[in-house]
Amino acid sequence: MKRFGRICMVEAKKWNIVFFLIPLLLVACATSPLGRRQIVLLSEGKMNEMGAQSFEELKAKTPIERDPKINQYVQCVVAPIMEAAKGRVSVQKWEVVVFKDPSANAFALPGGKIGVHTGILPVAKTQAQLAAVLGHEVGHVMAQHGNERVSQGQLASILLGAADVAVKDMSDTQKKLLMTGLGVGVQFGALLPFGRTQESEADLIGLDLMAKAGFDPGESVELWKNMAAASGGKSPPEWMSTHPSSDSRIANLRSHIPEHRADYLRVVQSGRVPRCTLN
Ligand SMILES: [Zn+2]
Repeated sequence: MKRFGRICMVEAKKWNIVFFLIPLLLVACATSPLGRRQIVLLSEGKMNEMGAQSFEELKAKTPIERDPKINQYVQCVVAPIMEAAKGRVSVQKWEVVVFKDPSANAFALPGGKIGVHTGILPVAKTQAQLAAVLGHEVGHVMAQHGNERVSQGQLASILLGAADVAVKDMSDTQKKLLMTGLGVGVQFGALLPFGRTQESEADLIGLDLMAKAGFDPGESVELWKNMAAASGGKSPPEWMSTHPSSDSRIANLRSHIPEHRADYLRVVQSGRVPRCTLN
């Protein structure tokens, strides 16, 4: 990567795609919420648009859970997380859909789209554990990890070549790459899972959101223990199949939980702790 002032350029062999990038004026360096330099090639508006379009496609293809109890429970957990994220991500209104899917998964897409699989509910056994899942996923959006991922190499050339093509007009291969880039890999084949750095960043942003939302950040550790137990000998769900082993992930979370205690206790003392229940 070469830097030209505040502009980041991809390496020389990618000059052919730079031709497409310059008119977009989006070949830019960004800084993640945790201070890491990143390359994000697409505008936030474009990412939001792609996230929203992909979400519509998913809703059309995947059965939706309509049980009001389940939906109210998920909304109850999401609401304070959204409140904690307010002003830190360019989303005015979040849309939350519970999908009837037995895999223990959830995702958040740019543009404020959150998908929760019914299969995550038996694994994230408490409201705070579900908050840990959602905080992590919203963390990926806040840190523009989807943008960073679709900006990588070949994926960028394909998507930027197709930047003016609506999702519905893309080829199946382009769609698959886009969905994976946005973080819906489990549905379409995990070609490029989020990397270790992105996962650990999302974990730490998730802790912050949880604590500020009034969920015990310590429950994130219990969630990952449950995830490890649930995956047993089988291949783990996409979002835990990336590099950090559950042991190193748990160790990382444990070392950072104390930083978030004060935020959590402040909410406890104010009496605003969420009370979400499935029953
Ligand atoms: Zn993740």
